[in-house]
Amino acid sequence: MSFDYDLFVIGGGSGGVRAARVAAQAGARVALAEEDRYGGTCVQRGCVPKKLMVFASEYPGYIEDAKAYGWDATLGDFNWDAFKSKLHAELDRLEGVYRNILGNNGVQTFDARAKLADPHTVELSDGSRKTAKHILLAMGGWPVLPDIKGAELGITSNDVFHLDALPETMLILGGGYIACEFACILNGLGVNVTQYYRGAQILRGFDEEARGLVSEEMQQNGIDLHLGTNILEMAQDGDKIRVKATNGTERVFDKVMFATGRRPNTADMGLEELGVKLGRYGEVLVDEYSQTNIPSIYAVGDVTDRVNLTPVAIREGMAFVETVFKGNPTPVDHDLIPTAIFTQPEMGTIGMSEEEARDRGPIEVYATSFKPMRESFAGRAQRVLMKLVVCADTRRVLGCHIVAPGAGEMIQLAGIAVKMGATKEDFDRTVAVHPTMSEEIVTMREPVRTA
Ligand code: NDP
Repeated sequence: MSFDYDLFVIGGGSGGVRAARVAAQAGARVALAEEDRYGGTCVQRGCVPKKLMVFASEYPGYIEDAKAYGWDATLGDFNWDAFKSKLHAELDRLEGVYRNILGNNGVQTFDARAKLADPHTVELSDGSRKTAKHILLAMGGWPVLPDIKGAELGITSNDVFHLDALPETMLILGGGYIACEFACILNGLGVNVTQYYRGAQILRGFDEEARGLVSEEMQQNGIDLHLGTNILEMAQDGDKIRVKATNGTERVFDKVMFATGRRPNTADMGLEELGVKLGRYGEVLVDEYSQTNIPSIYAVGDVTDRVNLTPVAIREGMAFVETVFKGNPTPVDHDLIPTAIFTQPEMGTIGMSEEEARDRGPIEVYATSFKPMRESFAGRAQRVLMKLVVCADTRRVLGCHIVAPGAGEMIQLAGIAVKMGATKEDFDRTVAVHPTMSEEIVTMREPVRTA
């Protein structure tokens, strides 16, 4: 049977674009459909614009530090409109880069929604049909709103980049990556931020000591964080939103942002009709080669809800191409993934939390918390944390957790050692780089705890 293409990719985000490009470079005839903007969540609504906003939000702190270091510096007003137009110009440029990557590699693109018609056919929103030997689902995910009365009055992280003006007051609901990052960003930009989280501590699943410090620092930076608190209901009140909370309060905010998780984009894609197996939250179920239960259909990235991070989606896309187009079956390695949370201060982490490791066997915990030189000189109260969780038997470093300015950069490098299986003694025999914050990671001699 002859097909129009060897591969049809649905979704032009990180995973889909990488898979399409690499497959085309391997000689496959490839097409890709994207109904929205190329670049997907990471480039258009996530990592990239978020990180640019993180940078923007850090300047007030730099001005304060500059004064402490003897500079005659004053903080003027933040011009949201100026920043926003520059931000969107940058996203337009990046979209162009993504389109060019595809075009230059001979991938045919369709600016259309695509859904499955049969195991080898997609139907585009203009009604045309295309056949392919393999179909790759890479539609990503989308924020979900909780089932709360008045929830439609709230916004999500998708909308933050398009606000007409920065609000004076904002309530953020949630305690995950997105809630905490945006609480810090908006606080830095001068918004009066309140955050409600239903659990006992933000950033559930991460090392307790590390998330405790992030939480403390966020509050010290002025974020009004309420733990054990959820929204009961919301209602319009003039041009503001009145929020009743489970802690018995009723408060009014200019904006309410939900950061209450994301769900895979699998609705109305023809998946159920074809019998593609989906999980409880609509995620496409795949094996270690990203193959679904229908042999011609594969899926990568957030649509599979494995580890929802851009570099992971990219790896899944590459492993798919190795497996299907290069005859080299490559399972995706989801073990020991370093990651960063761009709160202020940042958290960088890889491997097991102390709590997780403790449940698996005897461990030693090495940790130090201190005021870094730069911030301390500037009179900031900020503390940082360097922490290693070590297996008492094998001496391997099972987890590394850093809360510090630049922790994202640090954990990328420490992550190599941890991924290689470095022992505590390997860390110890590495000479410190002095004076830095991260030198502490190789100079901690005595465990603070054993468990
Ligand atoms: P998360 O799943 O991390 O967090 C969702 C938060 O919302 C949790 O705190 C959860 O509480 C809370 N929540 C869920 N449902 C409700 C509800 N009905 N009422 C009140 N609170 C609720 O999702 P995010 O949206 O923060 O992020 C999505 C994914 O995006 C992340 O998992 C991550 O993979 C990725 N991401 C990565 C980033 C990075 O690498 N820096 C940055 C941003 C996103 P509870 O803990 O109790 O379940």
